[in-house]
Amino acid sequence: MARAGRPENVTPAHGAGGEPALADRIRACRICSDRFAATATAHAPRPVVWFRPGARLLIAGQAPGARVHASGRPFTDPSGDRLRDWLGIGEDVFYDLSRVAVVPMAFCFPGYDDRKADLPPPPVCARTWHGQVMAELGEAPLVVLVGGHAHRWHLGTRAGVTETVAGWRAHAPWVFPLPHPSWRNTAWLKRNPWFAAELLPALRVRVQEVLDGAG
Ligand code: SF4
Repeated sequence: MARAGRPENVTPAHGAGGEPALADRIRACRICSDRFAATATAHAPRPVVWFRPGARLLIAGQAPGARVHASGRPFTDPSGDRLRDWLGIGEDVFYDLSRVAVVPMAFCFPGYDDRKADLPPPPVCARTWHGQVMAELGEAPLVVLVGGHAHRWHLGTRAGVTETVAGWRAHAPWVFPLPHPSWRNTAWLKRNPWFAAELLPALRVRVQEVLDGAG
């Protein structure tokens, strides 16, 4: 499954054969340079890599937003605050690479569309990296899928987000599909009270189980 990002001293700089380790190769990736240069922000790629084999909880997300692009750490924004609340963990646990990996469907901020919404993750990123990262990570006992792009890749579904999340019991306790925690989904959360009443309590129990080493 997924992880990325090096708080400097956690991922070996080189693989066994002297090749740069996967995380370092992702950090050096500039495949989307031209694509990003053509957006309104005209930014350069900055892959946010945050994973280490052995993590107990894999968060498969969408793509960094502008704040994460600036910070270089995943979910350092209001979406991250909401996601940590959903998971029932604080920043100390969330950013503990030995326990939590964050692997989005694209490692870089994609830029904005005309309505100032984040562009979708460029598909070339998942095609290039996601399978390799999943192979390096191995099976995490709990995978949390954040948003429709992650649902489609990891579950192979073509169903919409509401249908997929409503069917969470078919994947629990190993996988929990969630909507994206963006403020843009606040109305969705109000329309679907079962999410907070039923899914989130089950998710928090499972998060504590896997972080405690059970399950
Ligand atoms: S989004 Fe992915 S493929 Fe594109 S430059 Fe960043 S790491 Fe490379």
